[in-house]
Amino acid sequence: MAYDFDLYVIGAGSGGVRAARFAAGFGAKVAVAESRYLGGTCVNVGCVPKKLLVYGAHFAEDFEQASGFGWNLDEAQFDWPTLIANKDREINRLNGIYRNLLVNSGVTLHEGHARIVDPHQVEINGERFTAKNILIATGGWPQIPEIPGHEHAISSNQAFFLKQLPKRVLVVGGGYIAVEFAGIFHGLGAETTLLYRGELFLRGFDTSVRKHLQEELTKRGMDLQFNADIERIDKQADGSLKVTLKDGRQLEADCVFYATGRRPMLDNLGLENTGVKLDRKGFVEVDEQYQTAEPSILALGDVIGRVQLTPVALAEGMAVARRLFKPEQYRPVDYKMIPTAVFSLPNIGTVGLTEEEAREAGHDVQIFESRFRPMKLTLTECQERTLMKLVVDARTDKVLGCHMVGPDAGEIVQGLAIALKAGATKRDFDETIGVHPTAAEEFVTMRTPVAG
Ligand code: FAD
Ligand code: NDP
Repeated sequence: MAYDFDLYVIGAGSGGVRAARFAAGFGAKVAVAESRYLGGTCVNVGCVPKKLLVYGAHFAEDFEQASGFGWNLDEAQFDWPTLIANKDREINRLNGIYRNLLVNSGVTLHEGHARIVDPHQVEINGERFTAKNILIATGGWPQIPEIPGHEHAISSNQAFFLKQLPKRVLVVGGGYIAVEFAGIFHGLGAETTLLYRGELFLRGFDTSVRKHLQEELTKRGMDLQFNADIERIDKQADGSLKVTLKDGRQLEADCVFYATGRRPMLDNLGLENTGVKLDRKGFVEVDEQYQTAEPSILALGDVIGRVQLTPVALAEGMAVARRLFKPEQYRPVDYKMIPTAVFSLPNIGTVGLTEEEAREAGHDVQIFESRFRPMKLTLTECQERTLMKLVVDARTDKVLGCHMVGPDAGEIVQGLAIALKAGATKRDFDETIGVHPTAAEEFVTMRTPVAG
C-alpha cells in the first residue's frame, strides 16, 4: 500500500526533530506534527530558558565578588521583566531556527494536535494522513500531586513566564528542576525555601556531592527543609499563600513551585486505537530498538521514561532514523556513562558510578577527593568550596566515576566523560599533564586515596 509518508513524527521536540531531519536526509518522506512550540520542552520551557535564567542569577555573586578585584559598583538593580522579555526574544529566534531546519531538510511540518486513529494513520486539524511508521516523540509534562490547594501552585511551565519575581518562593521537590530553580530564585533575590520529602535531596547522586551542595546552599542563605512535605495550600485575602506541612507547621509564600517529576504526555493521543502498551509507571513501553507493542509505531525521548535528558533524546532520534532508513549505519544508544550536570549555583557535574553504586556493584573501590577554595575567590570574602571526587576500581585501576560540585562543573565533566567512555585508568589521569592554573587540573593531581 502507498502511504502519504514513510514516517509521521508526533512532537517537534529534541528527539522528534532529530529523527525527522535525519530520516528525511536518508531519503524518507517525513512529516512532523507539533501542537505547541517548535523545539519542544528543551528549547521553550526547559534546558535553554533555564540556563539563561541561571546565567542571570549568577551575576549576583559576580557583582559581590568584583569588589575584591578593585571594582566599585553602585548597588546592582535587577529587573525580572527585562530578563524574561530578552529570554522570550531568544526563544522566538530559536523557534525560527527549528522551523528552518525542518523545512530545509525536506520535512513537512503540520502545526496542530496530532491523534493516532489507527496504526498507520494520524489525524491533525481535521485531516488524515497515512504513514508506514509513526513515531511518538511527545515528551513529558510536569506532575503536581493533587493535594488540597494544588491549583495555587505553579510548575516550571509557568515559572518561565511569571510577570514579576515573587518575593518569597517555596520550591517543592529534590530533583534537578527543584534545585536549579531554587538557585535561580535565590540568586535573583527572592527569599527561597526548598522543601524536600526525604532525608537529603538529589537522590541517586553521589552522597558526597549531595552533602556538599547542601552545605554550599546553606552557606549562601537558602532555607533547605528536608523530611518536609505539604499537606495543603490556602490562598489568603492578600493573595499570599499559606502552606500547611504534614508535620503541622505553617509557612507563608508568594509562590509555591512544584518540581516533583514529569509524566509522559499522552493526552488525547489516540493510543486506544493501537496496540501500544504502557509500562507500570505509565510511560510508553518500547524494545531496545524503540518499537512499541504495535509494530508500525515507535517511541523515544521523555515519553519512554528512560533517561529524561535532551542529548539522550537526540541519540535515540538518530538511532530511530538509522534503524528505519539506514540500517547499515544503525548503532544502539549506549546508556552507560551518560554525563550530566545540575545547573545549581554552584553546578554539579557527574559521570559514571557514584561511590554507593560502585560498592553495590561489588567493586573494590578507592576514593580520591579534593576540596578547595577556588582561586577566583581568594581575593573575595566568599567562602565557597569546590568538591572533586574520583571513584576508582582498585583491582583494574579503571576510573568508574567522576563527580564535581563547583563553578563550571557541567563544562568540565564533558571532557572527563570521553576519558571514562574510552576506559581511562587512574594512571591515565595521573599521567595527564594539568592545565594550570585551573580548577579542572585537580582531576589529574589527586594522588592519595581518602577511602578504600
Ligand atoms: P519534548 O522536547 O518535550 O518534545 C515533545 C513535543 O511534542 C513538544 O513540543 C509537545 O508540544 C509536542 N506534542 C506533545 N503531544 C503532541 C501531540 N499530540 N501532537 C503534536 N505535538 C505534540 N535536559 C538536559 O539535557 N539538560 C538540561 O539542562 C535540562 N533542563 C531541563 C529543564 C526543565 C525545566 C525541564 C522541564 C526539562 C529539562 N531537561 C533538560 C529535559 C529535556 O528538556 C527533555 O529531556 C527533552 O526535551 C525531551 O525531549 P523529547 O523530544 O522527548 O520531548
Ligand atoms: P526528578 O525526577 O529529577 O525529581 C523529582 C523530585 O520530586 C524528587 O526529589 C522526588 O522525591 C520528588 N517528588 C516526587 N513526587 C513527589 C511527591 N508526590 N511529593 C513530594 N515530592 C515528590 O524530576 P524533576 O521534575 O526535577 O525533573 C524531571 C527530569 O527532567 C529530571 O529527572 C531530568 O531527567 C530532567 N532535567 C534535567 C536537567 C539537567 O540536565 N540539568 C534539568 C532539569 C530537568 P524522591 O527523590 O523522594 O522520589
